[in-house]
Amino acid sequence: HAKAQGRNQYQFFTQQINDDVSRSLVMENALRKGIAEGELRLVYQPQFCMKNMRLRGVEALVRWQHPEQGLVPPDFFIGLAEETGLILELGAWVMYEACLQGQRWRDEGFPDIELAVNVSALQFREELVDQVRRVLEETGFPAENLVIEVTESTLMQGASQAIGILSRLKELGVWVSLDDFGTGYSSLAYLKRFPLDKLKIDKAFISDLPHDADDSAITRAIISLAQSLNLLTVAEGVETTEQLEYLQALGCDLAQGYLLDRPLWPGDMISRFKAEMHRQVLQDKGGC
Ligand code: C2E
Ligand code: MG
Ligand code: MG
Ligand code: MG
Repeated sequence: HAKAQGRNQYQFFTQQINDDVSRSLVMENALRKGIAEGELRLVYQPQFCMKNMRLRGVEALVRWQHPEQGLVPPDFFIGLAEETGLILELGAWVMYEACLQGQRWRDEGFPDIELAVNVSALQFREELVDQVRRVLEETGFPAENLVIEVTESTLMQGASQAIGILSRLKELGVWVSLDDFGTGYSSLAYLKRFPLDKLKIDKAFISDLPHDADDSAITRAIISLAQSLNLLTVAEGVETTEQLEYLQALGCDLAQGYLLDRPLWPGDMISRFKAEMHRQVLQDKGGC
């Protein structure tokens, strides 16, 4: 009896493995095909200066428009893309497409905004610098409008090499932002040595502000750390007016979140630009 049960369990177990393996193979092939057949899309989430709530930039966020599954969010395929190496192709497409769109908006006479692009650990290698240089040349998008977002763990994986890559990116004139700050393992000694421009406070710390005492203390500490290192702070995942006002009072520089805007299709960015241009007529320039 026990033997039969054991065998059943074993069969069940191998069945599971086969399912997992074939599921991820199916997913991998679908993603490979999706990239090749142009099923990736970019949405853009606005970022605002806290001082005057003016539009400062957008973050490009990838989506997969799957023919049967519909619009697939990145958390469902970025991990797979990283495991299979497809992230290199995906990342190259994102970099080119985002800069192409950014330049299109400039050509159409919309305000000069920053464009932030996420870069995975696997992409963060010597070749990235040439890739970015080439994309800027081909699209005409200005380096000083481009922000590269990398995570703490990406930089910490090969910290001394990371300093070199960051320095060469900075020589191109692009900005670098440290994404999801506070969630990874990060050495404060390295933080000082990395040539960075911005720290993005992870939304995990923002969601329970201002009520959660620990999150408030962490957020305050991150902002004052950033200020002493001369880095701009960006709060991600701002969902309530209370959070926004609290962060404003702490001197956080920029905010991004559903309260202000969801990630938008390029066409929907147009009305944001028009509102921004209207405000520019009414207000003095300046901000953060
Ligand atoms: P991330 O770079 O930290 O991007 C911020 C994420 O927070 C986005 O999720 C955005 O839609 C979401 N978000 C923004 N405001 C709010 C808010 O108020 N509340 C909540 N709950 N969420 C908010 P998304 O677009 O699903 O992207 C998830 C992650 O996938 C990104 O996190 C980034 O790590 C990765 N990702 C997205 N696009 C790319 C890409 O082109 N390349 C790479 N390598 N990774 C990407
Ligand atoms: Mg990001
Ligand atoms: Mg982030
Ligand atoms: Mg995040």
